[in-house]
Amino acid sequence: MQLHHWVNTLGQDLKSRYGEAVRKLTIHANFTCPNRDGTLGKGGCTFCNVASFADEQIAAAPIAEQLNVKAQELAGKSDKYLAYFQAYTSTYGEVMTLDRLYQEALTYRNIVGLCVGTRPDCVSDAVLELLSGYQQQGFEIWLELGLQTSNDKTLKRINRGHGWAEYETVCLKARALGIKVCTHLIVGLPGETWQDYQNTLDAVVALGVDGIKLHPLHIVQGSTLAKAYQAGKITALTLEQYVDAAVMMIQRTPAEVVFHRVSATARKPTLIAPAWCEDRWQGLISVAQGLAASGGQGAQTTNPYVFNS
Ligand code: SF4
Repeated sequence: MQLHHWVNTLGQDLKSRYGEAVRKLTIHANFTCPNRDGTLGKGGCTFCNVASFADEQIAAAPIAEQLNVKAQELAGKSDKYLAYFQAYTSTYGEVMTLDRLYQEALTYRNIVGLCVGTRPDCVSDAVLELLSGYQQQGFEIWLELGLQTSNDKTLKRINRGHGWAEYETVCLKARALGIKVCTHLIVGLPGETWQDYQNTLDAVVALGVDGIKLHPLHIVQGSTLAKAYQAGKITALTLEQYVDAAVMMIQRTPAEVVFHRVSATARKPTLIAPAWCEDRWQGLISVAQGLAASGGQGAQTTNPYVFNS
């Protein structure tokens, strides 16, 4: 089941524009997070255990060395790359320091651009100008904004430390400068319903967005939600619940928006629940099957995704 038959995937989008596969190489550049270091808060978002999204062992290595290791892992599969600053808040630093780190990645062989993951309230105008400058030099720049939901009540409940307004401001500014925005959304946050998923997707699309990264809520060791789950106060999404929500959200997304991800996996023992998220393929295949049965990306908009072989 080929997902790109039903979804405008990043992999397919990059392949059609570069004429060959372009892969993301993940970097850990030792950033921290204002929601953990006391600037905004100390506990972090309730779903977060930073150790679950980054390999702490490689964090100390120089960026070129990290890229080298990751590129070797992909040897024979790809020869062009996007450097992905993923861990923590990758715009949280002095602009000169950010420039040095980003340039280290951009000057590595066969790098075509950057993906920079961050919080919506942590992207200054100076950072946007820096990223815009790389874009003007011909690099592909993706600003990956963790929004998770457009519902301010949920954002407060999960202790994000920002609301929809901060997302709206930075998204509009970034896109006005030609920087592509990829918005991260989580399905299954505590207290959220089908209506919240629909409202979030519709709000993000109405504001304007270039990419979406969609994933189910992972309950991971060390997070606040892990305690709530173990105390029986929250439940985890079933595969069926996730697939239904993801299919609806993808179908409401216009064809030109690129999906960087439509599900996500995590490993035990870090992952506590849902167990199906341990399987690399189950979520992906099920979402693809759901789309194949009821219509692909854009089926519920006026601009459906056109199959591109
Ligand atoms: S999810 Fe991101 S913003 Fe939230 S605490 Fe973790 S690193 Fe910080």
